[in-house]
Amino acid sequence: MELAGAWTGGAWIHAIDRPAEYAAVMSIQVHVLGTAQDGGFPHAGCGCDACSGARADPSQARLVSCIGLIGATGKCLMVDATPDFSTQQAALAKAAGRRPPQVDALILTHAHIGHYLGLAMLGREAMSADAVPVYCTLSMRRFLEHNRPWSHLIERAEIELHTLSPGEGLEFDGAQIDAYLTPHRSEDTDTIGLSIRGSERVLVYMPDADVFPPALAERIEEADVALIDGTFHDREELPHREILEVRHPFVTESVERFRDASGKVIFIHLNHTNALLSENPPALPDSFGVAREGDVFEL
Ligand SMILES: [Zn+2]
Ligand SMILES: [Zn+2]
Ligand SMILES: [Zn+2]
Repeated sequence: MELAGAWTGGAWIHAIDRPAEYAAVMSIQVHVLGTAQDGGFPHAGCGCDACSGARADPSQARLVSCIGLIGATGKCLMVDATPDFSTQQAALAKAAGRRPPQVDALILTHAHIGHYLGLAMLGREAMSADAVPVYCTLSMRRFLEHNRPWSHLIERAEIELHTLSPGEGLEFDGAQIDAYLTPHRSEDTDTIGLSIRGSERVLVYMPDADVFPPALAERIEEADVALIDGTFHDREELPHREILEVRHPFVTESVERFRDASGKVIFIHLNHTNALLSENPPALPDSFGVAREGDVFEL
């Protein structure tokens, strides 16, 4: 099959609009559905040049970080339910040729606003979903069970919670998904990162991390593609904030650290202040990239 718009990283990374009829016979695919930090881009209420530019030219705007998986038989799973859930669900379902445009399951990484607020769309005010399986850690599960409006979704069987314990795997339509704890501000819940393994390749998704301790760094280094926290490009980006307040690894640091990674390291979860979002972004070495909506990884 002809695939257009191959990434420079290799023939298996594509930016394509796949004909729906192929979806059911393809290998596992991971689609990038959003790339911005929790507040999206432009940021609500922000008058900075970048946000003003993205407001004036919506082609520069970016949805909140999210990936979707299309399995071996065309089943769809979304990782995180962002405030852009409706658009992202429709994009994934379209790529899989699914009608109505709905996904089969969700994994939630943690309870910061960019990662779970979209769950509300499964409720009776919108989809009135029928027991959509939602996989999350026990602490995330308790958070949803004990707080409204989320508990309503559970009581009305619009979602069905399943515990995804770090260290335990989940098989989804031919993909093997492993979850592991990621150090990240844990006001309400812990945070997980994921490794998704298809028949040929492994993709790591770690959109939010305070640091990458050695065990996580090893996963990034060994993956065929690692989509990692690129919230801030460098420390000059935040002149008004104490450096200790900023609990994300800078892109500049990650580039030094993962220079010898065996696969491609791609930054995602970009803050509106990030120079990588500007019209003239700083160059990155060849083995690094910046995630774009529409990127597709064949696993
Ligand atoms: Zn986030
Ligand atoms: Zn801004
Ligand atoms: Zn977070």
